Amino acid sequence: MGRIFLEYVSCEVVHVCSLCRTHLADHDSIISKAFQGRHGRAYLFSDVVNVSTGPRENRLLLTGLHVVADIYCNKCETRLGWKYVEAFEETQKYKEGKFILEKAMIAKEEERQNFDTFVEILPSTLTAAA
Ligand SMILES: [Zn+2]
Repeated sequence: MGRIFLEYVSCEVVHVCSLCRTHLADHDSIISKAFQGRHGRAYLFSDVVNVSTGPRENRLLLTGLHVVADIYCNKCETRLGWKYVEAFEETQKYKEGKFILEKAMIAKEEERQNFDTFVEILPSTLTAAA
């Protein structure tokens, strides 16, 4: 393994690895919050970055048989959830290529930096103009 390149998700609310705070997914890419993971509630995301996938395996879930691959944080290697590789039931096909992140393994961060910078810069700009 070489160097790890981590992507930065640029959005207002981002879901991060609860252990190392690596950015994982845009809040807007949540498809459903009504999923069940190993550790309780889990979210279905259309897109997740900075994860690596483990080997594919057949897994019998509440919604039928699926081919899934566990996903791991690229930085700290925590198992965060899984990716749906293939679904066999027609009604479950929409999950193919999508990702489950377990709520217990992730944290939500709000992007506040731009706002703080704006507040700090504004008074000095006014002074300089006076
Ligand atoms: Zn991590």
